[in-house]
Amino acid sequence: MLSIENLEVKYGNTVALSDFSLTIRKGEIYSLIGPSGCGKSTLLKVLCGIIKYYDGQIRFDDKAFSNKDIAIGYVPQHYGLLEWKTVKENIFLPYRLNATKIVNEGEVSEIINSLEIDDLQDRYPSQLSGGQKQRVALARAFISKPDILLMDEPFSSLDTFTSEASQRLFLRLWEKYKVTTLFITHNIHEAVSIGEHIVVMSKSPGKIVYQVENPLFNVSEYQEEKLKFVASIIKKIGY
Ligand code: ADP
Ligand code: MG
Repeated sequence: MLSIENLEVKYGNTVALSDFSLTIRKGEIYSLIGPSGCGKSTLLKVLCGIIKYYDGQIRFDDKAFSNKDIAIGYVPQHYGLLEWKTVKENIFLPYRLNATKIVNEGEVSEIINSLEIDDLQDRYPSQLSGGQKQRVALARAFISKPDILLMDEPFSSLDTFTSEASQRLFLRLWEKYKVTTLFITHNIHEAVSIGEHIVVMSKSPGKIVYQVENPLFNVSEYQEEKLKFVASIIKKIGY
């Protein structure tokens, strides 16, 4: 459904992405792993329309990709909450300029409850922990009923315990809405916990060097198999 072909992005003379191609199927979760600086955030900025100049082709359902026609949920690297707005105002911020499709009221309550932020709605972001901020950003993304959800290292600044709890909450919500997701991380364990597909990027300028389906997707009880799978990925990619 979303196909990216030979994407190249430059910042002046710096080539951030080069020869990057990836196809993303509807309703599935892709974990994209890559070392710091390889162009992961750049890719998401292209997809959500923040970066407008690039070479290569992006198509969505076989039409030229435009972030104006497609509802995009974007959870940026540091959550992107507005400090001067309450949690409630942040959640309902029409994050996309064309935010016409919003989930119904019942679904809003369900999303807020399942992310365990119902008691925080009148607070400001400065009064929240990292994990709480992150769940507010997730709620905002789900409420905008995105055709595609882009998440930029959403769990990486959380401690392991909070991160794992948030990952479980995310997967539970995803089970219900089955939103097509591109999840970015530099943590292979996290990639394996979240993704149906694991896609690995090279060092800068990033291109895809390895892609594999995750046999352990949504199977949380097999910790040992998970570690073996992580080890097999590390062996394949050599970092
Ligand atoms: P990642 O998210 O994988 O860590 P980024 O996409 O943020 O990587 O950055 C990719 C490369 O582009 C890096 O070399 C980075 O220094 C460079 N870069 C990112 N943003 C800018 C910018 N606004 N101006 C110039 N160079 C940038
Ligand atoms: Mg980044």
